[in-house]
Amino acid sequence: MLAISSGSSYLGFTKQYKCSNCNNVGMMSVKQTYVKQSLFLIPIANVNNNVYAQCSTCEVAFDLFKRQLIGEDKRKQELLEIMDGGKEAFKIFLNEIDHKSREDILKRLNKLGAYDLVKYYCS
Ligand SMILES: [Zn+2]
Repeated sequence: MLAISSGSSYLGFTKQYKCSNCNNVGMMSVKQTYVKQSLFLIPIANVNNNVYAQCSTCEVAFDLFKRQLIGEDKRKQELLEIMDGGKEAFKIFLNEIDHKSREDILKRLNKLGAYDLVKYYCS
């Protein structure tokens, strides 16, 4: 049987930002949406889509890649810098969640090329 599920997964936290929607100042969650397809419980496809930052107070999501003109490498670099600002807090978060979710997040970060962050979280 073909099953499709979708949702979002944490990637990290940002540094302190002021939310333009509710004016709260704090770290935002960096999340990635995904679509998973499986056939008889065997995963056959895992499509990762948007990466966005979400305010922890009002939960409004901000697209991190609004500027379409910058290239893929530049975007990736920008994302890594955004997540670097919240890495201490995210390391604590990772140590508090279950093993499987932690592995899943580290795999996503690896795919994004966030090797320095993965190294930091595993140290
Ligand atoms: Zn907000």
